[in-house]
Amino acid sequence: MPELPEVETIVNQLKHALVGKKILAVKIKDKKVVSKKVMEAIGKEVVNVWRRAKSIIIEFKDGASLLINLRMTGHFHYAKKSLKLAPYEKYMVAKFTLSDGSLLTHNSIRRFGSVRMLNRGQLDTELGKLGQEPLAKEFTLQKFIELLSKKTKANIKTTLMDQKFLAGIGNIYAMEGLYHARISPKRKIDSLSQLEVKRLYLQLQRILRLAIQERGSTVDNYVHIEGSGGFQKYLAVYGKENCPKKHPMKKVNLGGRGTYYCEKCQR
Ligand SMILES: [Zn+2]
Repeated sequence: MPELPEVETIVNQLKHALVGKKILAVKIKDKKVVSKKVMEAIGKEVVNVWRRAKSIIIEFKDGASLLINLRMTGHFHYAKKSLKLAPYEKYMVAKFTLSDGSLLTHNSIRRFGSVRMLNRGQLDTELGKLGQEPLAKEFTLQKFIELLSKKTKANIKTTLMDQKFLAGIGNIYAMEGLYHARISPKRKIDSLSQLEVKRLYLQLQRILRLAIQERGSTVDNYVHIEGSGGFQKYLAVYGKENCPKKHPMKKVNLGGRGTYYCEKCQR
């Protein structure tokens, strides 16, 4: 499932492809994923594309927005005027024709995601439920400590993945962050020392930034608009049988998610 770095990558590419253009036509192929109201995008001009947590927001000049949740297999394809998009129509759920003649499709293999048209109030309500952005300036170490202090009895890994706590971190980056901070995913928050919390804070940010630079991790089905991500080559524990120090990985189920960790490197 695309997490913060993967969605950020797609957002940067969509911004480049869409801002300043009007939507001339919309074709909805799957009403389960794409709400009928998305037809209202016709005639609207894109002024911004941004990310909040794992969601993509395509913002129009009149204040309305498309809110897109990719979930497991949602992705986009984009073709400039003279290029054909036909090979990408297989899992297409919606197609947008832009004012410069270019085409954008939204595709979904397993059809779990959603594309909705919201007004500003609806968007604020929807996004207001989300927690801190881990790369925002306001997310200081002090803030992290303060947030953790409200959840002392909770498990650290499931808390990192809780979107109302931190927004955008899923199974991959929670596991990687904990490995590099040398913290076992089984730990309770009140058992963490100040030094461990600081390590976790720094490692999470370092990994997320590097992953954005590498255009995300391509594991499972993730593709950005221009191809695959490159962070998978940096993954230390996700999907691995051994940690980077060659110790065998342990698997545990935490909050319903398969979690890999190294008993020797992570305490
Ligand atoms: Zn190890």
